Amino acid sequence: MTAAATRHSWWRRGALTLGIGSVASLAWAAATLYANTDGSRIDKPLWDVLAWSVSRSSDAGLPRSGPLPVVREAQGVAAAQPGELSATWLGHASVLLRLDEVTLLTDPQFSPRASPVSWAGPERFTPLPYAPQALPHIDIVLLSHNHYDHLDVPSLRQLMAQPGGAPLFVVPQGVQSLLKDEGIGPVQVLGWWQHAELAGVEVTGVPAHHWSARGMFDRHTTHWGGWVLRKGGRSAYYVGDTGYSADFRAIGERFPGLELALIPVGAYEPREFMKDQHVNPTEAVQIHRDVGARHSLGIHWGTFPLADESPEQTQEDVAQALAAQQLPAEALRLIAHGATWRIDPVAR
Ligand SMILES: [Zn+2]
Repeated sequence: MTAAATRHSWWRRGALTLGIGSVASLAWAAATLYANTDGSRIDKPLWDVLAWSVSRSSDAGLPRSGPLPVVREAQGVAAAQPGELSATWLGHASVLLRLDEVTLLTDPQFSPRASPVSWAGPERFTPLPYAPQALPHIDIVLLSHNHYDHLDVPSLRQLMAQPGGAPLFVVPQGVQSLLKDEGIGPVQVLGWWQHAELAGVEVTGVPAHHWSARGMFDRHTTHWGGWVLRKGGRSAYYVGDTGYSADFRAIGERFPGLELALIPVGAYEPREFMKDQHVNPTEAVQIHRDVGARHSLGIHWGTFPLADESPEQTQEDVAQALAAQQLPAEALRLIAHGATWRIDPVAR
């Protein structure tokens, strides 16, 4: 984070607390604003958001399914073994990754709602497959950005209290301020294309095409992105939250032979409204190809009602997108909440 952003962050917090919007706006204007690799910043005018909410509440096409099937298996809460690469889907963008004896967790979201308040906002319709206390010891938590469905403070607090000590929280630039304010740490900040060896894992921050905000006056003041992970000859890539962009080819060139990519496939309708920030299944399959992943797991669907498509539509759209590219089902798989996908190493 730059000195300018640090200097003004107390202004933003203070102004929000007091409700002095104009002061907050001034501080926002003075803060460092992050952008996508193509220089763009996604700005949805408030009017568009309101118009979509009104159309949603009157629209008969809203997702109305009940909970999706949940599996609970001993494997789902098992600790990482030497040489292992496996992914357990905990719902939405939360994936328990086992990478050669290290256990990582992407964007933990254990709460009943993905929202700043406990009484309103998108409500979980598929239950959490495992109680957070049942999970194995988490070594590293990877956060992609500060939206409420990805950065949930109560979930991070639960992880802070895990037996054996807090995990290391790895975050994009600027996100450390929020964690510090909430007393959550230790924190490692990594910018795009920066890497560090953490718990023996080579962790690299990579770009995604998205945006950030938690309040009315902090848009773009923290960064967003994905994470590439390599250890012991095994590798995985968490895409984060993203629209489609040229970033994925660059990531594929930089990291040849990625074994498993975790790619979002949900929250993509209505297309005009969502396409800048969320890929649809066709674009998710394109990302799978661009990064050259051996396998991909579809995430960010079937858990919270964030958009206008139903989980059944997501399943159909993924199947169609794979068929259109003549790819097998295991190229980009959807698995049940709680299920584990173990990736065997390529025979040499
Ligand atoms: Zn987001």
